[in-house]
Amino acid sequence: MQKSQINDKETTRSRIYQMVYQTESISKPELANRLGLSLPTVIQNVRSLQQDGLLIDGKTLKSTGGRKATAITLDKNARFSIGTEIERNHVSVVLVNLAAEIIDYVRIEKPFENTQVYYQEVVKIIHNLIEVSGVGKKAVLGTGFSIPGILTRDGQMLIYSHVLEVAGLQCTTVTRGLPYASILSNDANSAGIAETWKRHSRENAIYLSLSDYVGGAIFLNNELYLGENQRGGEFGHITLVRDGLPCYCGKKGCVDAYCSAQILSRHSEGDLRRFFKELETGNEDLKPVWERFLYHLTTTINNLVVPFDCKIILGGYLGEYLEKYIPLIRKSVAEITTFAGNEDYITACTYKKEASAVGAALMFIRPFIKQL
Ligand SMILES: [Zn+2]
Repeated sequence: MQKSQINDKETTRSRIYQMVYQTESISKPELANRLGLSLPTVIQNVRSLQQDGLLIDGKTLKSTGGRKATAITLDKNARFSIGTEIERNHVSVVLVNLAAEIIDYVRIEKPFENTQVYYQEVVKIIHNLIEVSGVGKKAVLGTGFSIPGILTRDGQMLIYSHVLEVAGLQCTTVTRGLPYASILSNDANSAGIAETWKRHSRENAIYLSLSDYVGGAIFLNNELYLGENQRGGEFGHITLVRDGLPCYCGKKGCVDAYCSAQILSRHSEGDLRRFFKELETGNEDLKPVWERFLYHLTTTINNLVVPFDCKIILGGYLGEYLEKYIPLIRKSVAEITTFAGNEDYITACTYKKEASAVGAALMFIRPFIKQL
């Protein structure tokens, strides 16, 4: 089927399903009202979605006069998707349902190797997770792989990855032996997709991924903006200090050299949780490290909000620890930004764990829902 044939125009069936998805529970008259459809059209489509096992009857709603209405809700476990995050030293695999809830997951320490032995071991972890969870193979929509690097637009090849030190990696090489549709997705883009999906957000947003490496994703008009060469959102390589500290990319002064989570965790033997615990219990040696880090982070945030003028979501591993520092971060950005306000566009991420793996799994859930 040509791509143009399956894209774009959402069917009435899909619009109804998406409205139930967003509201979680809704009556048929309310569906008709919100979507501007006739009640018979809603009834007919809901029946069809119920016959396919995708929607189910929920609770009986209070009567507003006349017959009591029954709420319609999702069968969240009608389909599943797998997301795998490949990192330099770890592999995470999540099984998520249609509501992007993590049903089961595994995270293991496993240094990356560009070998068939490594990929076959990853495939085995995926097979095991599906088997242990008891999910039928036919209910699995596909397997998405989150990977740190630049990918072709169709997600079928990793062009190169500085982090993994690999180039020209085909998706089929990674997934040999997996009987599911598969796709590769940039790690920060995946995390950003998971984050905006969870928020049911249609706003423009920047996702700044602050993990062992800094990355990011740009969402404009509810779409991920990739740029001309799929390098859009590579915020880790914005020049923050010209001729500054060396970056792993080979250049100097990149944001990554100042704002990656490693800048903090290297002061606590690689343990970020310990860094914040010690910082918050008064370790005086860590205070200047944290202040210096915040100085560079807030400069970076200002450098992003000036051109994009939108929500800035702080994510990655570090996102889990930033919630309580958001007022401080907002205040610091307000001191330097030209268009100062209350800076409430700066928020911490809501997905505290496995955002990239969930986002990779969503690579199959999103099109499924949109093409019902
Ligand atoms: Zn760099």
